[in-house]
Amino acid sequence: MGNFLPGQYERDRFSKINHNYLGEQFSDYSTIFGKIEKLILKGDYTLGDEVNLFEQRFAQLENVRFAIGVGSGTDALFLSLKALGVSQGDEVITTPYTFFATIGAIVTAGAKPVFVDIGEDYNIDVNKIEAAITKKTKAILPVHWSGRLCHMKKIKEIASKYNLFVVEDAAHAIMAKYGDDYAGHYSDTACFSMHPLKNLNVWGDGGVIVTNNEDLKARLSLMRNHGLLNRDECAIFSYNSRLDTLQAIVANHLLEKIKHITDSRISNAHFFDAELSKIPQIKIPPRDPLQKEVFHIYVIQAKNRDGLKKFLIEKGIDAKIHYPIPMHLQPAAKEFGYKRGDFPVCEHVCDNVISLPVHEFITREQQNYVVKAVQEFYKL
Ligand SMILES: *Cc1c(COP(=O)(O)O)cnc(C)c1O
Repeated sequence: MGNFLPGQYERDRFSKINHNYLGEQFSDYSTIFGKIEKLILKGDYTLGDEVNLFEQRFAQLENVRFAIGVGSGTDALFLSLKALGVSQGDEVITTPYTFFATIGAIVTAGAKPVFVDIGEDYNIDVNKIEAAITKKTKAILPVHWSGRLCHMKKIKEIASKYNLFVVEDAAHAIMAKYGDDYAGHYSDTACFSMHPLKNLNVWGDGGVIVTNNEDLKARLSLMRNHGLLNRDECAIFSYNSRLDTLQAIVANHLLEKIKHITDSRISNAHFFDAELSKIPQIKIPPRDPLQKEVFHIYVIQAKNRDGLKKFLIEKGIDAKIHYPIPMHLQPAAKEFGYKRGDFPVCEHVCDNVISLPVHEFITREQQNYVVKAVQEFYKL
């Protein structure tokens, strides 16, 4: 199967208020073409200056020592687990409320995902992690859902107590902070995606791993590039998952705008929070003033969610569900033996969440239109 959502982007364009904004995002594509032209004249197609520059700038942005550009967010997770020695027979603790790639990375690394329920903030409930640890547990893999960081300090304490690794799925969390700390501060690695729909997006696939550990940085740099020490010598037989140099050009271009992208999303989300919190049928997750949430998606819970979604779509508002089926209830998870009722908070959230567009190209006028539509649906 190729693109399993054929015509999705085309259809989305007919909404007045969209989740997809790639046309606007890259309206200055001719500037990027100019940079690509320079690359073509140079012939520097794999790794090279653009990737190095991106890695330096990304590490700086996330306030960590090292960044390693890789082929995708999924590869970032998979390579991190592999670099830490996760393999057959190991267990990795994670959340059932995530995108498939989190679990895909654990399973393809050879390990078994062990789920822990989430809290009202949609992130893994740190108070339930210890009960899930067994002799086989090798790592904890928290996901910063929607761009809100998990309680990493607490997770790190648990990991240290039981001698476990920590890999963060920070696909949603570029520039997110808890207090002064970005993703990557309390973990072995944090993994970011630059998929076209993420906050920092490229023209296809791209990912980046950050770490403060110099040995891990060296190992990951080898692992993404066949394990090559130089042209003729290989240190470890490994994978090919480099960040594409063309994509590094796009990423470097957008890095200049990431502060603006992030600030607009935060401002739009705060506007929705203020307006939608007046509607009794809407439940906004608790906001923690210590958190700098970056709102990769704006997720709230709504009474008669499916009815609201249908109504909003009729009004030209591209409401989405991220996601209706938790990981432990997926057909692919059958072999792990979970059942409905195992993670009640997560299951309730999946039955009730709805996402509204908050990207940087939404105007206040459009946001007011969304708020009015929600009020209209509930006959307020
Ligand atoms: C997008 C995403 C990934 C995977 O990233 P890709 O770059 O698409 O491979 C992993 N985890 C989460 C939570 C994501 O949303």
